[in-house]
Amino acid sequence: MTLLDGWGRCTRGWAEVRGPLDRQALRALLATRPPHGLLARGAGCSYGDAAQNTGGLVLAPATEPAITVDAGGGTVRAAGSATFAQILARTVPRGLLLPVLPGTARLTLGGAVAADVHGKNQRTDGSLAAWLDSVELLDGNGRLHLLTPDREEFRATVGGMGLTGLVLAATVRLIPITGTRLRVTTRRAADLDALLAELDAARSRYAVAWIDTTATGAALGRGVVDLGDHLDEPDEADDLDDLAGLDYRGGLGGLEYAPARARRAPRLPFCPFIPPTARAFNSLWYHRARASGPRCSNCPRSSTGWTRCGTGTGPSARAASCSTSSPCRTAATA
Ligand SMILES: Cc1cc2nc3c(=O)[nH]c(=O)nc-3n(C[C@H](O)[C@H](O)[C@H](O)COP(=O)(O)OP(=O)(O)OC[C@H]3O[C@@H](n4cnc5c(N)ncnc54)[C@H](O)[C@@H]3O)c2cc1C
Repeated sequence: MTLLDGWGRCTRGWAEVRGPLDRQALRALLATRPPHGLLARGAGCSYGDAAQNTGGLVLAPATEPAITVDAGGGTVRAAGSATFAQILARTVPRGLLLPVLPGTARLTLGGAVAADVHGKNQRTDGSLAAWLDSVELLDGNGRLHLLTPDREEFRATVGGMGLTGLVLAATVRLIPITGTRLRVTTRRAADLDALLAELDAARSRYAVAWIDTTATGAALGRGVVDLGDHLDEPDEADDLDDLAGLDYRGGLGGLEYAPARARRAPRLPFCPFIPPTARAFNSLWYHRARASGPRCSNCPRSSTGWTRCGTGTGPSARAASCSTSSPCRTAATA
């Protein structure tokens, strides 16, 4: 038995974990009608207990993470157990990006289908459902279904939290990109009205707001709005010179992808998030967000898919001081 939890670590439960299994073995397992049911688990990134089946069977991963890119057709067919990081590593070098990038690249395609995940472009591009050509589902009776968007079962499965069966694979349409960078603009908004007005006025493909929930009075709902668009220009190889000597394995020099290593927060014997520390952190976060003009960001490299250049001391910050010919500078002066 294995102790499983979710990203929020709020509930934990013991379950028998199996996998990866091939289709025949999955069918045989389903035929045994496990008494406490059978649940597919992706990367366990869901916040609560969605990926737990206490006292029962959990498939983690359900299958091998096979990935096939159709570069000509601009699609990828990947197993439900393939992570976004694994998929991006195959598509980005071909100038193709997943159309929906949630706040972590560790999640799996199966988990993404089950939760119909959104990215920071939901306003403009919709959630994952809008980009799925098909979903291959193994139902509780071991029957395989090829679900297309016109079918009711598709709508029950995408966003259905795994309750209609196992997502064995899905085919996703991809976005063509010429480089890995975004032009990012950050704006501070002094209160909730200003923040909502910024979002209403946003014309960028990507838009996300962070709200300081500890602010009160006239500052109630203040926050920071980030707007982003893909740069049309290809990444320039000379950016690699800027990174000489730095321990950086990212893809600033071209269409490369190397995900940041996920770090797990340590378990502390106390909760560091109490009102005074939350207020101090939020105030710092709000004030450090410069009301700046456009700058560049290396989009798919970060675990959030949204790293800003020029706001730190690491390689990203270094990259912000791009050479005169770089797309970053071009964008900033446009
Ligand atoms: C740091 C962080 C940032 C996030 N940011 C976003 C965001 O920006 N946008 C957003 O929409 N979500 C976001 N999420 C939530 C996350 O995308 C969803 O919870 C997603 O479902 C997690 O996928 P997973 O592979 O970890 O699935 P799990 O958490 O393991 O499982 C989630 C659900 O999917 C089902 N499932 C998993 N695999 C399969 C399969 N093969 N077949 C059938 N069912 C399956 C499980 O049974 C369960 O019900 C974020 C999560 C984290 C931790």
